Amino acid sequence: MSNKGLRKCAGCEKFFDFTSDGWFADRGEYIDKPICQECWHNDDPDIATIVEYDGDKNEISLGNYTLMGDTDNISLAVEDLANSIKWVKSDGWRGHYTGDTPKGYVRVVDAWFSLDGIHGDSEGLIDRLEYSLSAGDYPPFPVIVASLRTSNCMSRGLDVYVQDKDQLLKWMGDK
Ligand SMILES: [Zn+2]
Repeated sequence: MSNKGLRKCAGCEKFFDFTSDGWFADRGEYIDKPICQECWHNDDPDIATIVEYDGDKNEISLGNYTLMGDTDNISLAVEDLANSIKWVKSDGWRGHYTGDTPKGYVRVVDAWFSLDGIHGDSEGLIDRLEYSLSAGDYPPFPVIVASLRTSNCMSRGLDVYVQDKDQLLKWMGDK
């Protein structure tokens, strides 16, 4: 048998017929590498959810290889953030996913939430933001909220990025 048309899957490393069964990874360390149909369909888009508010709301979800959701309408900043998200190992099996602050943005919240509430948000920005966002009141400037998987299924990271913190504070203060 010839290996013509066969490529190695970047996920499971098996050889497969790329022409009939192949995909190129959308994101992460595998970006643009061949992924077999099985890995593609079994990819769990639970690594991160990134929501961008800018007068409107766009949401995408990230798997190991795939980007799902409204990927046609994401900004360059969200694309950069999505591509930077990687696993940081703390020890053994434990760790969390994190991303790099997009260019031109500052990270105003670097927190995590678990069953007993939100940790690491001393200014209470999340509660105040949530109050407006859940009412469908979206800021007229970009606010990026990323929810990230950790090794603890009861806990997720929560990062918020804006271009100008004062602008965010002022907008929330005007409510
Ligand atoms: Zn595979």
